[in-house]
Amino acid sequence: ARAPCWIGIDLGTSGCRAVAIDAAGALLAAARASLPPSRSGADGGREQDPEDWWSATVAVLRDLTGRLLGHRCRALSVDATSATVLLATPDGHPLGSALMYDDRRAVAAAERVAALAPSASPARGASASLAKVLYLRERLAVDREVLVLHQADWVLGRLGARYGISDWNNALKLGFDQVAEAWPDWLDGLALAPVRLPDVVAPGTPIGVLDPRLVEPTGLAAGTALVAGTTDSTAAVIATGIATPGEAVTSLGSTLVVKVLSGTPVADPSSGVYSHRFGDLWLAGGASNSGGAVLRRFFDDDRIAQLSARMDPEGSTGLDYYPLPAPGERFPIADPTCAPRLTPRPADDLMFLQGLFEGIAAIEAAGYRRLAELGAPRPTRILTVGGGAGNSAWARIRARKLGVPVGQARQQEAAYGAARLALTASSGSSRPASVPGLS
Ligand code: ADP
Repeated sequence: ARAPCWIGIDLGTSGCRAVAIDAAGALLAAARASLPPSRSGADGGREQDPEDWWSATVAVLRDLTGRLLGHRCRALSVDATSATVLLATPDGHPLGSALMYDDRRAVAAAERVAALAPSASPARGASASLAKVLYLRERLAVDREVLVLHQADWVLGRLGARYGISDWNNALKLGFDQVAEAWPDWLDGLALAPVRLPDVVAPGTPIGVLDPRLVEPTGLAAGTALVAGTTDSTAAVIATGIATPGEAVTSLGSTLVVKVLSGTPVADPSSGVYSHRFGDLWLAGGASNSGGAVLRRFFDDDRIAQLSARMDPEGSTGLDYYPLPAPGERFPIADPTCAPRLTPRPADDLMFLQGLFEGIAAIEAAGYRRLAELGAPRPTRILTVGGGAGNSAWARIRARKLGVPVGQARQQEAAYGAARLALTASSGSSRPASVPGLS
């Protein structure tokens, strides 16, 4: 008998990645295929052809299963970019292209949403799925029943799940009420019909089996279970293995993002704070405009690594920076005019970089304080993901400012998180399986 494995697929902005894990969560194999760039219009349009997602998905599965001889996939799940949506016929044929997460055209539709949605609703705004659906319905002059499908929903449907199902993380920006687990009444005011909203299930819910015609092209086993997915950022948090209130994940990528597990949802629309349902808990998070992009304005990655190796993280520079790539901040303070503070610049690059690390760490600490003010727990330990996660000098500076242990997440790949969802579904637990996080 072949050993069981579980597969996660991540559809990101530039590529599709898949990983396979065993019952203990160990990584068995990985594969990647690129996606063509989204088509950009001068009007703020960002579109992709769902068929390109499909070609990448099949290519990546074929590559992955080719490396997994001796294993048989039990279940598979898919995460994808949040708020990337399309309209499709009831049997899943796309009505034109999908609008990507960063499409900015649905401004008039967003005003109609704003007139009805509660002030804290994540469905507000032109980049939310809901405004995009209204925009598409008008543009395509929809006059018969069509389905709203997110990127992950459509790929799972194409793999063999019923079309018309979504998960509550993807459905958040479509207006789904994660507390009541229902579509709220205020949506009626938008008279969406004949556009049909998806049936929403918990991430990790089994929603079908592989279409038998796909056994040959993908190399997957007949009967592979398909499991409802999540958004790419939630999948990346599942990958880290955090599981109890107070455990937190900081992403030190181009931007700084902080997230903490909470027993209750918290929200602050004015600074873009909202909570994703996460098993029985809530993942409260906010994103600053600060982050690694500021470092890259002054230093390339090699130089950062060289300087960091010589840094004395126990000392303090006394520089009081607020590193931003341009004026304007969203979180922990919402201030579109907030100016970067990057002076005085010492002659010594080592001091300057340390000042930047300290400044970003101070914003991280303020971010967690802000989430705590809104009702989330103070972090008990912080796992780090992204380009800055492996920097031990910076981690030391952060641990001092944050007052809690700071470590690097062992797993941080969204595809790995999706594979954990698939594994959870087969093991019957209601919450994403936890994995040891601190390395
Ligand atoms: P993205 O958010 O674009 O996916 P990544 O997670 O790849 O970004 O992180 C890229 C960022 O990491 C860059 O902005 C860079 O400044 C930063 N970075 C790269 N190497 C290091 C390092 N050794 N220490 C701290 N930061 C680093």
